Amino acid sequence: MDLFEYQGKQYFAKFGIPVSAGDVAHTVDESIAIAERIGYPVVVKAQVQVGGRGKAGGIKLANDNDEVRTHASNIIGMNIKGHVVKRVWVERASDIAEEYYASLTLDRAAKQHLLMLSAQGGVDIEEVAAKDPSAIVKLHISPVVGLDEATAKKAAIDAKIPSKAQDGVASILVKLYDCFVKGDCDLAEINPLILKPSGEVHALDAKVSLDANASFRHPEWEAFAATQELDGREQLAREKGLQYIGLDGSVGIIANGAGLAMSTLDVVNQVGGKAANFLDVGGGANAELMTAALEVINFDTNVRSIFVNIFGGITRGDEVAKGIVEAMRRVQLRAPIVIRLDGTNAEQGRQILADAGIPADKLMSKPTMLDAARTAVAIANGKSI
Ligand code: GDP
Ligand code: MN
Repeated sequence: MDLFEYQGKQYFAKFGIPVSAGDVAHTVDESIAIAERIGYPVVVKAQVQVGGRGKAGGIKLANDNDEVRTHASNIIGMNIKGHVVKRVWVERASDIAEEYYASLTLDRAAKQHLLMLSAQGGVDIEEVAAKDPSAIVKLHISPVVGLDEATAKKAAIDAKIPSKAQDGVASILVKLYDCFVKGDCDLAEINPLILKPSGEVHALDAKVSLDANASFRHPEWEAFAATQELDGREQLAREKGLQYIGLDGSVGIIANGAGLAMSTLDVVNQVGGKAANFLDVGGGANAELMTAALEVINFDTNVRSIFVNIFGGITRGDEVAKGIVEAMRRVQLRAPIVIRLDGTNAEQGRQILADAGIPADKLMSKPTMLDAARTAVAIANGKSI
């Protein structure tokens, strides 16, 4: 779950990471009220989950009420790379002497946490990585050992952070690590991490992604979940309790089990198609669930074919088949189904589908995953089959 900047900053603050005083506003009047409360000058910042807000005109400095009015009214409702701004974060403006970069992620291959630190912040870190990779210090942190102040300071020295900022940076890195681990983040990034002329070091931006698998430990995350901007498909899937992720291809995918769903995406790719979604119907794929899954897929106007890939284990092929027949009675599908049904009771399942009298251009049964993928992709790509 990705947080907005203001939520990320509030999260940082809980772990003692210094951020600017500020508050979130939905209207121009609220923006002015916040600015008056925290004192001028302020920065009005668009809250959208996309980078480069500054360049897009979504971050403006304001010295008085009139300037807040102008900027807030321009920014609220603004479209930044397809994201409409619904809120702004108004914070006390900072004087900047230098801009750095710091982030923590999980390096799955190394089975360790990864700290990245650079004295070149404020710009896209991908740009720094491309132009001058040696400017980014990468340090693996063992989850058993953790990160202490001395190690953090060494990283700051290695990253050529000037000596006057090293202690401040090190202290923030230790707190960021604490936030990353105790706060169950997948990503905690500060860009820019600034040095003020006064010598203080401070987080000017916050990019936080929370590990949804840890949500049971964090009832307070519900407030974040409430502001998530899901697309219509994801909204519907959530209401129906499905494991669904929207993608931008044209082959709708339904599979049982996350592993099989991912393999299905790979096979579709391999034969030249693009998946419209990831959808795992799980172990108990019955009529209710298949109907819900097909409704969600059908909601997506990009879908040209629906690839149902079921390997029965606990899931029984006859149940799935009944589900599909029932679902096709209930939902007027915009795209044909190509199904590969294998495993427990697959034989009975295929018989049920054959006996249902569904026209062959609406439902095609294929013996293997690869055959089914080829057919689904051919249909999605507009080829006659
Ligand atoms: P992003 O472009 O979406 O990552 O937004 P950031 O929050 O990182 O801000 C982009 C840039 O705006 C920063 O790198 C700063 O140069 C500038 N900026 C943001 N807040 C302030 C501020 O309080 N004072 C000053 N002087 N510049 C700011
Ligand atoms: Mn930034």
